[in-house]
Amino acid sequence: MPQPAAEAGTPILYRARCLVPMAGPPLDDGGLLVADGTLAAVGPFAQLAAAGRHQHSVDLGEVVVLPPLANAHTHLELTHYPRWSAIDAPFWGDFTDWLLHLVGVLRDIPPQDFAPSLADGLQTLLRFGTGAVGDVLSRLPARSAYRGTPLAGRVFLEALGVFDDLFQRRLNQLRPVLTRRPAAGLDYGLTPHAPYTLTQKSLGRCLELARRHHLPLAMHLAESPAEVQLLDSGDGPLAERFYPAVGWREKVPAATGLSPVAWLVNGRALPPGMLLVHGVQVGPEDIPLLTGHGVTVVLCPRSNEQLGVGTAPVADYLAAGVPLALGTDSLASSGSLSLWDEMAAARRLYGGCLTPPQLLHLATRDGARVLGLEGRMGTLQAGWGAHFQALRPDSQPAPGELFEYLCSPKRPEEIQALYLDGREVLHSG
Ligand SMILES: [Zn+2]
Repeated sequence: MPQPAAEAGTPILYRARCLVPMAGPPLDDGGLLVADGTLAAVGPFAQLAAAGRHQHSVDLGEVVVLPPLANAHTHLELTHYPRWSAIDAPFWGDFTDWLLHLVGVLRDIPPQDFAPSLADGLQTLLRFGTGAVGDVLSRLPARSAYRGTPLAGRVFLEALGVFDDLFQRRLNQLRPVLTRRPAAGLDYGLTPHAPYTLTQKSLGRCLELARRHHLPLAMHLAESPAEVQLLDSGDGPLAERFYPAVGWREKVPAATGLSPVAWLVNGRALPPGMLLVHGVQVGPEDIPLLTGHGVTVVLCPRSNEQLGVGTAPVADYLAAGVPLALGTDSLASSGSLSLWDEMAAARRLYGGCLTPPQLLHLATRDGARVLGLEGRMGTLQAGWGAHFQALRPDSQPAPGELFEYLCSPKRPEEIQALYLDGREVLHSG
């Protein structure tokens, strides 16, 4: 049963069979002292109990407690996509086929259907032990669904299009939306969609708007070979099939000879902390451009696998010190919104480049940091927010196998509780 809500300010001491703070080694029989939505102390339970600073104590039982996950890239308004498209099985076709299918499906969805889809996405994230999100919003009226969510992070308002006057009109639409945050824990940012749906001029305007309003930025980049071909030589499947299908036939870009990363940078200073999503089609010559600008690459391995676009050069990123985070992307290209599933897939797809402890750090501390939550969420330490989740495994993993266990499949089924700002927002079982 859910625990009764404590009076605000009443210090509660939580006990966990295993505590994984992500700011130090795991603890057997760990304790979290929570007061006013903040972690007042973290350490061995016996020690915190002896200090006597609590008024109540709650034994969470035979659980593993760790920070909530930070899903750095989603499109929650597309949570009902499998239902809309009537495709539950993995999509078969190339990236351009998928894009055309997506556009066709979304064209027939009534505008009012996106808010309930987004609301379901927010609930689904909580069920998967998620505390922070980097969500992309395209359908502005659907933003009402964010109100009241306990999730923290960012909502990136999307702009795309190759007609510069229409793009400017879209930016004008976004301006008034930016004045009121979508929920108490969420801030707005901007996301120019991708190099294959923008002109250099429109991208520049978007970056300028973000600079003027101090808005965080995200962008899909270097996702598919088709994107590379379009920018490099102005032809290929996007030019031949996607552009004509969406009424952009006369706007196929001229060959630039540039890689997606070089196309984005193009003599500009990118804002540090900008999230570049996917980063699959990135060569050794692109890496210094990324490190030079202090951007973060958000990996979405399951989406990349499903769309058959390749595998991100994770070993190169790690060697160069490019900051990384993890995202599930949307249910239009991924099997679930669970970052637990994404970690298990990353282990499989990146061939051991990322060890289980590294993956856990990406999914908690690093993800929260790149979503602007440093010092508040992502590790369990005194002074940070009281954000944590509890997993109840069938049998306790051996101490030396804990991270291995956490990065293997089936973890989403074991999530028992999620606390955000000291409040229990999910309790199952
Ligand atoms: Zn995406």
